[in-house]
Amino acid sequence: MSYVGPDFDPPQPRRPRRGPLTVALAALVPGALLGWLVYEAVGGSGGSSGAAGTAASSSTVSSSSRAPAASAATPGTNRSTNDAKQPSATPTTSAPAASGALKGKVIVVDPGHNPGNFRHPAEINRQVDIGTNKKECDTTGTSTNAGYTEARFTLDVAHRLRTILERQGATVKLTHDGDSPPWGPCVDERARIGNTAHADAAISIHADGSAEGDRGFHVILPASVHAGAADTRPIVASSRDLGERVAGTFLRVTGEPPSNYVGEGTGLVTRQDLGGLNLSTVPKVFIECGNMRDSKDAALLTSGTWRQKAAQGISEGIVSFLRQS
Ligand code: ZN
Repeated sequence: MSYVGPDFDPPQPRRPRRGPLTVALAALVPGALLGWLVYEAVGGSGGSSGAAGTAASSSTVSSSSRAPAASAATPGTNRSTNDAKQPSATPTTSAPAASGALKGKVIVVDPGHNPGNFRHPAEINRQVDIGTNKKECDTTGTSTNAGYTEARFTLDVAHRLRTILERQGATVKLTHDGDSPPWGPCVDERARIGNTAHADAAISIHADGSAEGDRGFHVILPASVHAGAADTRPIVASSRDLGERVAGTFLRVTGEPPSNYVGEGTGLVTRQDLGGLNLSTVPKVFIECGNMRDSKDAALLTSGTWRQKAAQGISEGIVSFLRQS
């Protein structure tokens, strides 16, 4: 991979005990539709398909609830103007809606990295304890070859996801929002924000920095870790459930295929080296929405229309998880 950092250590491909995408899809769509969806998303179109607009869903979320698509952000743009030495740990919290299917549910959305990290190398290189070992506070993340950064991508998808979930009554907390704080927060703090909020579900949004030709999304599940401050044993099963549902709905809504370079085609990877997962006490997964260094994936990731689909796909997985929990 072209990027070395906490989120990009070579993951250990792992074959799950069953076909997770099939299971997740089966829980969400009628059987007759399933075969078509799998064909369409995995072997059929090989890219953005019509599945998003036509697939039936057990969720009440509909395309009519989508926010208007925005154009791709300008590469290199940075709104951060605050040079404070320490980032505020205060998460951005939305006002809970008065009603809706997700009323009373708390969802923490963690936009991976921070657009300001590039200007704070000393701060983000500081080592923090993730239970199993020590690791950098945070990293800059990757970017497309044209310079659209992962940090801007994750923040944009997080905003869209927040809007969708709030419309259904959820309370949504972002671990950071643009220049607040101006860098980070550190990965241990990102986990702590979800824990302190007693989140019903938490998700960290990323895009990968692998080689050209490496395509597709994958959802990262916490391994069972019990070391130091890390103890994921209580959340492994629930996080897998959340991750399988998110993978299934993301595939269906975006048409993006599961990764062809990790996860053996399942779209799921289990890791024990991510502080954001190791230190979580609430159900949590990461999603790598695509590979920014692949030209085909980059064309999708830089499209506002596609990012709206990404947010919609993620939201439907979360909603599915919360409704059965
Ligand atoms: Zn990342």
